[in-house]
Amino acid sequence: MAVSGIGHYDPDNIFAKILRGDIPCRKVFENDMVLAFHDIAPKAPVHVLVIPKGPYISFADFSQRASDREIVAFNRAIGDIARTFDLDAPGYRLIGNVGENAGQEVPHYHVHLLGGRPLGAMLV
Ligand code: 5GP
Repeated sequence: MAVSGIGHYDPDNIFAKILRGDIPCRKVFENDMVLAFHDIAPKAPVHVLVIPKGPYISFADFSQRASDREIVAFNRAIGDIARTFDLDAPGYRLIGNVGENAGQEVPHYHVHLLGGRPLGAMLV
């Protein structure tokens, strides 16, 4: 079910549980501000979810409250992760769902990094 992209952060959302280590994930990257792991239901050969470690509900929340350092670290991490999968040359897609109209399901900000096949014009 889609969630709101603003409001009160739910510390029991599934990605908060992954950050706490309560639920396992297939990790691909981690530093002090960012975690990235494979999506449990991949839509492409590479389907990685990149999340900030801070408690942000969506891009709407992150873009207002995160520090410049977090915002830079987050974006830098996405580029670095794409390079580890050799996606710069063939290309890839970044998707950030914000709130109900975008069908956001998990109320912890995340960017989908998709690649490894031609993705066409379809959104996922
Ligand atoms: P959203 O619709 O919120 O942008 O995307 C949420 C994504 O999280 C979906 O692609 C879904 O497959 C993924 N997801 C949901 N639960 C889990 C989980 O427990 N582990 C992992 N790795 N991915 C999850």
